[in-house]
Amino acid sequence: MSSSRQRTRESLKRLRPYVAGKGFVEISRRYGLKPEEIVKLGSNENPYGPSPRVKEALQKISPERYPEPEELLEGLARYTGFPQEMIAIGAGMDGVMDTLTRIFLEKGDRTFIPTPTFSYYEILTVLAGAEPRFSSRGPEFQIQEEVPKDAKMAFLCSPNNPTGNALSEDELCDILETTEAIVFLDEAYVEFAEQSLAELVDRYENLVVGRTLSKAFGLAGMRLGYALMPEWMAQEYRRAAPPFFAISSASVAAGVAALSDLDYMKESVRKIRMERERLQKEINSFPSQANFLYLKTEEPSDSFVERFLQKGVIIRDCRSFRGAGEHHVRVTVGTPAENERFLAAFREICRSP
Ligand code: PMP
Repeated sequence: MSSSRQRTRESLKRLRPYVAGKGFVEISRRYGLKPEEIVKLGSNENPYGPSPRVKEALQKISPERYPEPEELLEGLARYTGFPQEMIAIGAGMDGVMDTLTRIFLEKGDRTFIPTPTFSYYEILTVLAGAEPRFSSRGPEFQIQEEVPKDAKMAFLCSPNNPTGNALSEDELCDILETTEAIVFLDEAYVEFAEQSLAELVDRYENLVVGRTLSKAFGLAGMRLGYALMPEWMAQEYRRAAPPFFAISSASVAAGVAALSDLDYMKESVRKIRMERERLQKEINSFPSQANFLYLKTEEPSDSFVERFLQKGVIIRDCRSFRGAGEHHVRVTVGTPAENERFLAAFREICRSP
C-alpha cells in the first residue's frame, strides 16, 4: 500500500461504501434494455415527480449566484408550522445528518441504532470515530431495548426504512423520558404515514426530527432536506454547517416551488397510499406506512432480485441492511402501470421456482 494511502483515517477501514438502489444506466447496460423499458422500484422515489411549478422555477434560476435560503426557510416554516429559528436545511436529509453528527459525535462516543434500518446512521457514527450499538427489532420490527445509558445519539426511523412500520407517540415519549441522548427521529417518509411526531420537538430539548423533499415532494434529484430542532440546536447547526448549507440555487428554487403547491404533493401521496394497500394484499408483504413494501422471500433475496432485474424491474435486495438477513426485499410503490409490471414479474417468478 502506498504511504499516502496509509494516512487515511483509522475509522475509514471499518466502512464499506453506502449501497444505493440500482439505477437505469447500470441496468440498461447490464441487460441491454432501453431505459424506457425499465421500471425503477428500488430507491423509494416518487414516480409522479414534483409539482409542475418546479420546472418553471428551475428555468428562472441564476446559476452564477450563490443560493439564498430565505424563501425556502419561509416555505418550510409555513409547511411545518415551526418557526424558522427551529429549522435547519441541508443537501438532502443525508447532508443534515452529516452536520448533526459533526455537532454531537466524537471519538469514543456511542450511538444507538435499532436494526434493520437506514445504513447511513452507521456510516456517520463510524466516520466520527464513534461506536454504534445495534439492537435487533422485534417480530413486528418494534424497538425492543432501551437506549443504552452511554449513548450520545439514538437514530430512530419512522416509518422505518426498510421495514415500513412506524413508531407510536407513546413509544417515542417513553424513549425520550428515559434517555439523555440526542434522539434523531428520521421522518423521511412521514407524509405517507398516519401521523408525524414532530410536534414533540416543542416538548423535548433532546429531540430532532429529520425531513426531506426527496420523497413525497418528488425532489430526490435536487438533494434537499431539513430538520426541526430546538432553537439551541439550530444555533449549533449554523456553526457546524457547510457554507450555504451545501444547497444550490436550483434546489432552493425547486423546494420553494414544490412547497407552494401542497395540493399536488397530497394528491401524489394519496395515489401512492392507495396503490400501496392494493400491492400489499397482492404480494402479502408486511404492512407499511411508507411508499415501499418489505417482503420476505423463500429463496435467497439476491437471486430473487436478480430475476426481477432480468425483466427490467428494479427492486431492492435488503442484504445490505444490517440485520435484515438474506431473505428480504423492498419494493417501492410506483404508478399503477409500474406496479402492474412488477406484479406480472412477481406472478411469473413466484410460480416458477
Ligand atoms: N432517511 C431515510 C430513512 C431514507 O430512506 C433516505 C433516502 N434514502 C434518507 C434519509 C435520505 O434522504 P435524502 O434524499 O433527503 O438525503
